[in-house]
Amino acid sequence: MAAEQLRFDGKVVIITGAGGGLGRAYALFYASRGAAVVVNDLGSPLAGGGQSHSAADQVVEEIRRNGGQAVANYDSVEKGDAIVQTALQHFGRLDVLVNNAGVLRDKSFSRMSDMDWDLVQLVHLKGSFKTTKAAWDVFRKQKYGRIIMTTSAAGLYGNFGQANYGSAKMAVVGFSNTLAKEGAKYNIHCNAVAPMAASRMTETAMPAEVIKVLDPKFVTPLVAYLTHESCPETGGVYEVGGGFAAKLRWERAEGHVFKADQSFTPAAVHAQWKAITDFAKPYYPQSIGEVDWLGLLDRAKQLPTN
Ligand code: NAD
Repeated sequence: MAAEQLRFDGKVVIITGAGGGLGRAYALFYASRGAAVVVNDLGSPLAGGGQSHSAADQVVEEIRRNGGQAVANYDSVEKGDAIVQTALQHFGRLDVLVNNAGVLRDKSFSRMSDMDWDLVQLVHLKGSFKTTKAAWDVFRKQKYGRIIMTTSAAGLYGNFGQANYGSAKMAVVGFSNTLAKEGAKYNIHCNAVAPMAASRMTETAMPAEVIKVLDPKFVTPLVAYLTHESCPETGGVYEVGGGFAAKLRWERAEGHVFKADQSFTPAAVHAQWKAITDFAKPYYPQSIGEVDWLGLLDRAKQLPTN
């Protein structure tokens, strides 16, 4: 199916942190495809704090000028229920939630204060929790919902100076994985995206010619597809940016089964290190239940019974 055919007529979409960067690009796109959009933005400087209505207002004006439907919301994502209320009050329903709002407080770990840690966790993790929690009730009742969590390569791989941000960004992956499982029977899908785009968050670290290709609009198509009614995907993690899109997954090495007795020592681990870390015969686990305990019950039966 061509991307042009995927529309959002009659759907209501919340995008948090949509006053600039990626969120703005998402908002403009959904509105251009027929959705009514709640443009949430606190109007925060990159390091958090402050408040201005102008960021969200400008995006709403732009959408309306183009003939689309949008309303602004200026609450912090910590007040997710107020953001969801805005959607219900203005448009009477909610179909898609894109958790996108974010702040940075980059510092090497030795210099990172409690405040640097707490603020980043609050916006990225608690904010995604509060907004999703409020949307969840609506989605469950109507047996339909599409959620995006925004993760980052800084969380997936680690990045110097981003212990606070990286941990919050990896936390939302665990959050997303669990919601995908809990939402399955209600037709609520949840996926995580790790975008790469030129925005005020990243521009200063990028050469000019790279910035051109990393326009936020080259992240939007994947996010829009994942949140479309026709998309069956849930519980996925995707890297997307500059026209590249790819799914990620966990890979487990073949490993080694030790005897569950005194012979399982650190020296035995050392002796089997190659097998423990050998990815020549990988396995791709997708759920806890699928963990193959490698004959755990059989081995338990062989243990002394005292
Ligand atoms: P951005 O700074 O342009 O946009 C973030 C927006 O969130 C801002 O408009 C800001 O006002 C808003 N915001 C901040 N705190 C808020 C709060 N408490 N409540 C509501 N809104 C709030 O940055 P961006 O690059 O567009 O980032 C969007 C998301 O993508 C973030 O979650 C970011 O961590 C993530 N991300 C971006 C990149 C990238 O390459 N740009 C890479 C990885 C992850």
